[in-house]
Amino acid sequence: MPQPPILKIHEIFTSLQGEGLRQGEPTLFIRFTGCNLRCDFCYTRQAWEKGEDQTVEQIVVRAQDLRRDFPCEWVCLTGGEPLLQDIGGLLQALKEASLKIQVETNATQPPVYPVDWFTASPKPPEYALHPNLREAARELKLVVSEELTADICLRLCRRIPAETPLILQPESNQGWSIEKGLGLLRQVLRSGKTNVRLSPQLHKILDIP
Ligand code: SF4
Repeated sequence: MPQPPILKIHEIFTSLQGEGLRQGEPTLFIRFTGCNLRCDFCYTRQAWEKGEDQTVEQIVVRAQDLRRDFPCEWVCLTGGEPLLQDIGGLLQALKEASLKIQVETNATQPPVYPVDWFTASPKPPEYALHPNLREAARELKLVVSEELTADICLRLCRRIPAETPLILQPESNQGWSIEKGLGLLRQVLRSGKTNVRLSPQLHKILDIP
C-alpha cells in the first residue's frame, strides 16, 4: 500500500505577504526545505538543508492552530523550492481547509494543482522559466541582482502573456539595487511592457517575519 508522502518543512508561520502583487495580505507561510539552486543573494539559505519531516496531517494541524490566532485566508508555499517535493496531497488538504493557495517557485519545475496563484521567480544564471508556468504564473518576479539585465527582463516578458505583471524586486531593499531597478523599469517601459512595478520587500521594511 502506498505511504502518504513525508514532506521536509523548515518552518510554518503567519505574517503579511511581503513581496509581489499580494503584498500586505495576511498569509500563512509554509517554508519547504531544499532548493536546486544556490543564488548568491539567497536570504533563506537556512532552508537549503535544515528542516523537519512532517506528514500532511501534521502540517494542516499546525496551520489550523496558527489560523485560530491569525485567521488568514491565504497560504503561501515557499522555500527553498516547494515544487521539488510531492505536494499534491498537501494542496488538496489545504483546499479542504478553505485556504487560497499561493506557490512561490524558482520556475525550474512544472506546476502542480490545485493552486490559485503561482509566483514565478526565475533565478540567475539561467533564468529558466518552465514552459507550463508561462501561462499559469500570476506574476513574474525578478530580484534586481547584479546579474539582472534589461535583456533578461525583456526575454522573459516575451514568454508570458502581456497582462501578467513583471515585478522588479530590489535585492534586500539595498540602495544600489533600488537605483538599478528604477533604471531597468524605465528600459522595460520604453520597450512597450507597461505592466511592470518596482516593489521592495515589505516584511524587511516593517521588520516582521
Ligand atoms: S531559488 Fe530562492 S531559495 Fe533557492 S537559492 Fe535561489 S533565492 Fe534561495
